[in-house]
Amino acid sequence: MTRIVVFGSTNMDLVAYARRAPARGETVAGHAFRTIPGGKGANQAVAAARAGGEVALVGAVGSDDFGYRLRDTLEHCSVDTDLLRTVEGPSGTAHIVVDDEGGNSIVVVPGANGTVTSLSHGDEALITGADLLLLQLELPLSAVVDAAAHARRHGVRTVLTPAPAQPLPPELFDATDLLVPNEHEAAVLTGRVDPHAAALALLDVVPEVVVTLGAAGCLYAARGADLLAVPAPRVRAVDTTAAGDTFVGALAVALGEGRPVPDALAWASAAAALSVRREGASTSMPYRAEIEAALG
Ligand code: ATP
Repeated sequence: MTRIVVFGSTNMDLVAYARRAPARGETVAGHAFRTIPGGKGANQAVAAARAGGEVALVGAVGSDDFGYRLRDTLEHCSVDTDLLRTVEGPSGTAHIVVDDEGGNSIVVVPGANGTVTSLSHGDEALITGADLLLLQLELPLSAVVDAAAHARRHGVRTVLTPAPAQPLPPELFDATDLLVPNEHEAAVLTGRVDPHAAALALLDVVPEVVVTLGAAGCLYAARGADLLAVPAPRVRAVDTTAAGDTFVGALAVALGEGRPVPDALAWASAAAALSVRREGASTSMPYRAEIEAALG
């Protein structure tokens, strides 16, 4: 089994559904409310575990009820939470208003995620023993850089999702083996709106890149190789939340199993396409058998 460590966030998503989002000073009536376990780290961990990886999540939840529920959800999805700290105070939360046109506005409060400013010896030992380390940008940046650099020193392959989009320090690129931005993140990192141009520009700073393009699939670029475009399976999309995290989790499992890149990308695309056919984030992520069945 591919041993995967995710160094990343856990958030409780607090989602209010309303005809439209309120303007400043205004109150609008909503018609539904849901609390949904999320956070990019937790989502990638669940996706990888369902795709057949042996997965541990390093990060932090708060001492509130959300923290218990976030940990419980991960454990039910077979994610190892032994090194997921519980810290005094609130868990990370995302406050989301979804309007009737499917648009959303979001306030993210890092809570416990913001306390993960360094790696413990236990965290380092766990990363050293992994095949791959998955990273995103919802924990303090200095700790993300430290984790990536530690993995690099020990020959552990690093996969970075550069979200939320922001300029990155050179040390983080230096410690990244595979960068997986979406179109928007690729444009923020390179100043290039065209994803082909952005993918090629990113090869100046990392050896391998996958730019995800939503329903249009993804583009793979590696130094010294031709660009590879992988189409997404055509499906009726119901909810694309966490499609990118499902893609990365499944991709990590396939790469860890030593599959050739084109096969690994097809596998990840199949997993992500299955997830957009169902509602929710972690609830929509497919199990290994479903991915295999979809690929025929
Ligand atoms: P999110 O923020 O919702 O997690 P993202 O913006 O990070 O998503 P996308 O580029 O939208 O990532 O999607 C990631 C991958 O998921 C795509 O490369 C594709 O393989 C798959 N995917 C996304 N939307 C669709 C869709 N409508 N139909 C089929 N596959 C899709």
